[in-house]
Amino acid sequence: MTDTLSPLIADRSELLGQICELGDFQPGSITNATRRCGKPSCHCTKPDHPGHGPHFQLTQKINRKTATQNLPSPAAVRKAQSEIAEYRKFRALVDELVAVNRRICRLRPVKQSAQPEQAAQEKKRPRRSAKKSHAN
Ligand SMILES: [Zn+2]
Repeated sequence: MTDTLSPLIADRSELLGQICELGDFQPGSITNATRRCGKPSCHCTKPDHPGHGPHFQLTQKINRKTATQNLPSPAAVRKAQSEIAEYRKFRALVDELVAVNRRICRLRPVKQSAQPEQAAQEKKRPRRSAKKSHAN
């Protein structure tokens, strides 16, 4: 039984190690928007004008609200892209970690408390309730 369990435990350690090695991460998506600056004299007020830009933004859902941050430079866009990529890795690792843990839980034998000879017996012992000596 330990033979099937130990490689899974090794996998779990490996996954946890990979999670530790992740770089900065955050969820979100990068959107590319154009906008109108609002100046009445600007050519972008004309209806056929596409607007200024493109402007890159990082969009995130936080507590069901959408929050956006401007990404003002190509370097800021690249930084956000790598953070999002790391987040995807994190999520994939977490999914694997849950899956491997589920298998471990299924295979892990129930600990028999007192004598190991009784392990084969499936007698259910009544659980001792906590002593309420303080109440007396
Ligand atoms: Zn404008």
